[in-house]
Amino acid sequence: MSAALHPDTVAVHSGRSDLGELGVHALPIDLSTTNPLPDVERGGDSYEAMATGGRPPADGSLVYARLWNPTVARFEEALAELEHAEASVAFGSGMAAMTAVILAHTNAVGKRHVVAVRPLYGGTDHLLGSGLLGAEVTYCGPREVGASIRTDTGLVVLETPANPTLELTDIADVVAQAGAVPVVVDNTFATPLLQNPIDLGAALSLHSATKYLGGHGDVIAGVVACSEQTAEALRRVRAVTGGLLHPLGAYLLHRGLATLPVRLQRQQESARRIVSWLLDRPEVAEVFYPGLDGDPQGLLDRQMRGTGAMVAMRMRGGYAAASAVASATRLFTHAVSLGGVDSLIQHPAALTHRPVPAESRPAADILRLSIGLEAADDLIADLAATFAGASTSDRVAPLHDARTGAGRS
Ligand SMILES: *Cc1c(COP(=O)(O)O)cnc(C)c1O
Repeated sequence: MSAALHPDTVAVHSGRSDLGELGVHALPIDLSTTNPLPDVERGGDSYEAMATGGRPPADGSLVYARLWNPTVARFEEALAELEHAEASVAFGSGMAAMTAVILAHTNAVGKRHVVAVRPLYGGTDHLLGSGLLGAEVTYCGPREVGASIRTDTGLVVLETPANPTLELTDIADVVAQAGAVPVVVDNTFATPLLQNPIDLGAALSLHSATKYLGGHGDVIAGVVACSEQTAEALRRVRAVTGGLLHPLGAYLLHRGLATLPVRLQRQQESARRIVSWLLDRPEVAEVFYPGLDGDPQGLLDRQMRGTGAMVAMRMRGGYAAASAVASATRLFTHAVSLGGVDSLIQHPAALTHRPVPAESRPAADILRLSIGLEAADDLIADLAATFAGASTSDRVAPLHDARTGAGRS
């Protein structure tokens, strides 16, 4: 599709250019696990091409769904376009995607070292530190990347905005420090609408598609945008290890892309209102949101097109206050994950960042909010009632009683 189109338009139309020719309007779903082979020769050639990470030959067969699925490929085409990348490769989760990225970049002869810029999502930090993938890892801060690179470094892992405190790291600066070593940026919090790491020199942009891309809390998935050459290496890992995205998940993600721009715009507006309300609250010691420090490095200008809809706050009263708030909100569901249509609240140190070593773990008085599509006034009222410690009857009535399963009457 033409590069001149606005991203909002690309989000609606990408990966759909052949639908007219097919005579359909909605995205088709192909659930085949196996595919007819034209003959032994072409079947074998097709298998060989895809098992080594290539695309299916025009006159061949898709052979087997662990190698290729058209519904998944359609979503991948759309995501690649939104990320200004040649290709993208989808996986069964964000962690399967990160695993494939690490394996693909550390299994070449003489490359087994990874530089990981902290802070990172707890699961990524844990995966790297676990030794499960055989990589040797140096953790460092954004300014120490250059000094951490070795001759056997195969990958630099970076996340910005960071989770949960929304610090921004200069992608172009990390890329410059990395030199010839490819940089993967976890772009989950920003989405392709607010940030395109590949435009800033990163080799790969990774998403937990479970979050904003899916947007409805009903698909676990991951996706990596990159060059076609890197996509081949990732598809090879995917074909061999089997960390696949199911076509029904790919369908939901692709459908969700169309509403991503309006969802994010509204969520971001509400986040900004909630941030300015939180800044005046005596119960809150500190608010974390991009731009609150005045953006001294100019990163909101240079690398982002918005501030997003994730907010974190440090509660006065330490862990006790934070844990009381987390379990007392009504409209904010106390749950991990983020980026969906409904608002969530969670305690990073106890949950998402639990596997991170204590010295790099978020403080125990920090809570993270994912702002959904509810009216901002209602969300603010929910937080106000929670902070006031108001009796249950004064609060927003519970929508659902978890014990009895009864809905609000
Ligand atoms: C959730 C998340 C992941 C992991 O993705 P899954 O889909 O849960 O496997 C990675 N990075 C970030 C920033 C996340 O929020």
